[in-house]
Amino acid sequence: MEFKDNAEEAAFRSTVRSFIKDKLPGGLVSMGWEEEGADADREALVKSWRKTLATQGWIAPHWPKQYGGAGMSPGEQFIFNEEMAEQRAPQVGGMGVQMIGPTLIMYGTDEQKAEHLSGITSGDVQWCQGYSEPGAGSDLASLQTRAVRDGDDYVINGSKIWSSGAHRADWMFFLARTDPDAPKHRGISMLLMPMSSPGIQINALIDMSGRHVFNQEYFDNVRVPVKNRVGEENRGWYVGATLLDFERSNIGASIGMRHQVNDLVTFAREAAKTGSVPVQLTNTVKAELAERAIEAEVAKLISYRIISMQKRGQVPNHEASMNKNFRSEAGQRLAATGVKLLGLYTNIYDGPLAPQKGRLSRQYLSSVSATIAAGTSEINRNVIATRGLGLPRG
Ligand SMILES: Cc1cc2nc3c(=O)[nH]c(=O)nc-3n(C[C@H](O)[C@H](O)[C@H](O)COP(=O)(O)OP(=O)(O)OC[C@H]3O[C@@H](n4cnc5c(N)ncnc54)[C@H](O)[C@@H]3O)c2cc1C
Repeated sequence: MEFKDNAEEAAFRSTVRSFIKDKLPGGLVSMGWEEEGADADREALVKSWRKTLATQGWIAPHWPKQYGGAGMSPGEQFIFNEEMAEQRAPQVGGMGVQMIGPTLIMYGTDEQKAEHLSGITSGDVQWCQGYSEPGAGSDLASLQTRAVRDGDDYVINGSKIWSSGAHRADWMFFLARTDPDAPKHRGISMLLMPMSSPGIQINALIDMSGRHVFNQEYFDNVRVPVKNRVGEENRGWYVGATLLDFERSNIGASIGMRHQVNDLVTFAREAAKTGSVPVQLTNTVKAELAERAIEAEVAKLISYRIISMQKRGQVPNHEASMNKNFRSEAGQRLAATGVKLLGLYTNIYDGPLAPQKGRLSRQYLSSVSATIAAGTSEINRNVIATRGLGLPRG
């Protein structure tokens, strides 16, 4: 792996860097776990930033230009994501950009593309993902929500759970069982439905950090036109796995981890000097902070390994699982070190006495779900053991 940019990459990096420096609205920085429930002022800044990125096709940088993207290669996306993270600029695409947009580009009808893609790249239409069910998470192919054909519609009954942002979304893309007699991966179809459809009930699920991020939905005879099916009937399992030419290193999260370590160290230094918060800067905590700094660097190197594979045309497989596990578990360790540093002050979330405006406290609670969301640590370890180490399936 060549760590240095070649001339072309350096020029591209410089363009992206200057653009962000010039155009990112003052005061708007990515806040990670605080993104949900932002106040109206922040919403307005995010909206203006979204418009600015849209002018360049940078809301969906990996999409082909004809669909409103920037046609970036994985290498260019890596530089773009690295620069966005370095300057703490929020990414604003969401599930529309990462998931359903690429799927429609690959499998959608012309009508579906015309109806949905521009709303995603402009940021005007928000999407949510309805995959998980109360009885189907890691073993997603066991899903039971039914879609029964009735004339030009499917009639949907069942329930989805953990759907992030469903209460704010305009549309949901979801998987439903269209053939209950077929082997379980083969009887599933992907469908699109407006969240305003009659028969959908959305119940809020409040997470342990007190945030309303995800939801459970109940479908009672919801009608979805057959024209809203993406790809062939009963092929939804394969349609749902589309990624397009997507950069998978997650360099943004690796850099975010380094920012968090640095912020914690700066905070500890200042608090120790001014006495604003009685930080527990013991030798143990100092040693842990050093470990966390090393881990942030390791996370970055794993990201580099993945992008170097993609640049060579290889598809990261167990490497992506290693990356996800390392980042999510190191994130939990980082939050736990922060809690040791702040001691009882971790319990203060708001007001003048809350260290770092309660960010660390919220991160400590939110980080728990990181090893569950988007593939659990155990499932990823299975992938590493079988596909990476060649061990037999248990
Ligand atoms: C923050 C967050 C956001 C999410 N957003 C969405 C969303 O927008 N849309 C959506 O559809 N879903 C979403 N999910 C759901 C997520 O995809 C599931 O939680 C995840 O797939 C795990 O499924 P489960 O919760 O049913 O756990 P289960 O699959 O029931 O797993 C329970 C435990 O058993 C372990 N386990 C299961 N199978 C195996 C195995 N074969 N070998 C070893 N151990 C195993 C798991 O690792 C886990 O520890 C979200 C989850 C979180 C936490």
